[in-house]
Amino acid sequence: MEFRIEIAPPEIRRPKPTDESALGFGRIYSDHMFTMRWTEQGGWTDPTVRPFSDLKLSPASLVLHYSQTIFEGLKAYRNPEGNINLFRPRDNAARFNQSASRVDLPQVDPEIFMRAIRELVELDHEWIPKSKGTSLYIRPTMIATEPYIGLKSAQEVLFFIITGPVGAYYQEGFNPVNITVCDRYSRAGPGGLGSIKAGANYAASLKAEKEASSRGFSQVLWLDAAERKYIEEVGSMNILFMMSGTVVTPPPGDTILDGITKASVLELLRQWGVPVEERRLAIGEVLGAQRSGELDEVFGAGTAAVISPVGSFEYRGKVYHVKNGGTGQLTKRLFEKLTDIQYNSSSKKPDRFGWVHEIPLPAASGAASQSDSSKP
Ligand SMILES: *Cc1c(COP(=O)(O)O)cnc(C)c1O
Repeated sequence: MEFRIEIAPPEIRRPKPTDESALGFGRIYSDHMFTMRWTEQGGWTDPTVRPFSDLKLSPASLVLHYSQTIFEGLKAYRNPEGNINLFRPRDNAARFNQSASRVDLPQVDPEIFMRAIRELVELDHEWIPKSKGTSLYIRPTMIATEPYIGLKSAQEVLFFIITGPVGAYYQEGFNPVNITVCDRYSRAGPGGLGSIKAGANYAASLKAEKEASSRGFSQVLWLDAAERKYIEEVGSMNILFMMSGTVVTPPPGDTILDGITKASVLELLRQWGVPVEERRLAIGEVLGAQRSGELDEVFGAGTAAVISPVGSFEYRGKVYHVKNGGTGQLTKRLFEKLTDIQYNSSSKKPDRFGWVHEIPLPAASGAASQSDSSKP
């Protein structure tokens, strides 16, 4: 498939952020985006890297009414050689297709998904921040664009990818989060959308998250929808508990997102010889371990923060502090190992799992100015 590349002319390019310590998350976008259209009859056409711009969409577009939309989230890191690292991007491509399948959106060839990301990060490589902990966030998205307000699967679809620089999640050392166990609302039910990155899941979580935040908690820990008894996950992270030296985490299923960070954590733990159990875990068992002093560490795992220590959790009005409320040893070691792999060149420091997908930058392009690359 031929890609069209439309380079943003210098006059529409935006200034890159100069203060990398104030990047935050999700408000700044780089100069280019990728788009590709699909129709039932014609399949995918027009793969195009183009200047970042607003979309033109009918107010009748199916996505706006019935949430037929999915997304992915991954990051590009600048390594010490100046090349670009992606972390297990093929797993994102595969999960994107699983998500698409569940909400009856079309499949994207993983090679096209990969090439689109590569073209984007190469072209906008100057947007990849350089300071420790920063990265270029990549957001592939698919939406049902067909204008029709009857309920059905769209026969016209748009796949797009936008990117933008994001800040270090931890500015100065870890800050353990305090979370609240939600036994009022559900995020996902059996046979529903919980295992995929469908926009609708996050709409279902917003009210609980706002209520939690107004009470001073930064995240919601979800329980299973049927009994509100078994631990599922946190809003955008999977959750792991170390109890008596064993790391226990709920298995991926149809109500829990199968996180790439969590899968990597489990592989590292197995390599380190730390016992791991993927099984159903009742909140009562966690409270029991807490009471008997056997709850050693609790942490979340997801692309945004990589590893997020949980300092305390609230359940039915009572707050429980995990040990001293600080960051556990294993939590810290996992964070350091994972970020070490993500930020370093795969050649210099072989990651034995083959997780890093390194995109070499041609020597000249490292110094390319905006005007050099603005030829039509
Ligand atoms: C994205 C996401 C995660 C984490 O997945 P990663 O692949 O590790 O980024 C966990 N839970 C939910 C609900 C998510 O959307």
